[in-house]
Amino acid sequence: MSIDLGTPTLLPPGEAERAVLLAAPRGYCAGVDRAVITVEKALDLYGAPVYVRKQIVHNKHVVRTLEERGAIFVEEIEEIPEGATVVFSAHGVSPMVHAEAAERSLKTIDATCPLVTKVHHEARRFANDGYRILLIGHEGHEEVEGTAGEAPDHITLVETPADVDDLEFPEGTKLSWLSQTTLSVDETMETVRRLREKFPQLEDPPSDDICYATQNRQVAVKEIGKDADLVIVVGSANSSNSVRLVEVALEAGAKASYRVDDASEIEDAWFEGVTTVSVTSGASVPEDLVEGVLGLLADRGYPDARAVQTAEESLIFSLPPELRRDLKAAGKA
Ligand code: SF4
Repeated sequence: MSIDLGTPTLLPPGEAERAVLLAAPRGYCAGVDRAVITVEKALDLYGAPVYVRKQIVHNKHVVRTLEERGAIFVEEIEEIPEGATVVFSAHGVSPMVHAEAAERSLKTIDATCPLVTKVHHEARRFANDGYRILLIGHEGHEEVEGTAGEAPDHITLVETPADVDDLEFPEGTKLSWLSQTTLSVDETMETVRRLREKFPQLEDPPSDDICYATQNRQVAVKEIGKDADLVIVVGSANSSNSVRLVEVALEAGAKASYRVDDASEIEDAWFEGVTTVSVTSGASVPEDLVEGVLGLLADRGYPDARAVQTAEESLIFSLPPELRRDLKAAGKA
């Protein structure tokens, strides 16, 4: 008796077990969505140009698309003509920037993410109560500059867990900590653990500063990264939360992980011996850029992506009140 084993399928070695895992959630968070819509609606309502201080969100494709519609991105208020309209970015600004805008009689629309505004409130409250605030974050990042500007005389920046060793304060100093919203959760908790060990009087903020979107994307990339040969993170180089996703993927066990702005930056050599590819994107990344990456994987013989859902997100922020008021007055609300 013979058994028909069927015709062997001729697949390249390893192709039969190839897989593509797609993180969920990924991409736009509520704060980015609100900021991008704010600029779009401002352009519709007031007409071009609308000035935007700094990149509205840290993604070069988003910035280029808005530039094509008439937004002008500037680094500082002094570059904006008197009386013009300016949108402040999702990362927030210090009170000094508000004052500079008022001096130039600018019409301001503040697209600061409400979760960043919350950290600004905490900084003011701790400062008013006489605390020294240990702000965990990256020097030079716009969000850190904005938060530090709320209470410059009260804030000490702490960038890494190792920085804790160098901190000294006079006996009896009241201490609290705050953080940038887009940091690695694990690294930040390690910094806080060391702070508390050295300064037992340390007070916690009333709620997490690392935002829900950053946390959810890190949980998701751990899940898709732990058994992956390659994790591709879509996001720009200046996007803190995107850069953190690469680090978290590697810590979770991914054999390799790279950040790309879009599919064109993916290199052939990355796929050598790779069966499982995982894909995610930072909180400022439009979904069409992820679709471009999935298209490239399909062209290389990888199967359709399987979504790995680790959280549901439904948060939506309303537009800045000053814009809502003008939209309503124009009958466009
Ligand atoms: S990453 Fe978090 S804090 Fe930043 S804009 Fe998005 S929701 Fe807001």
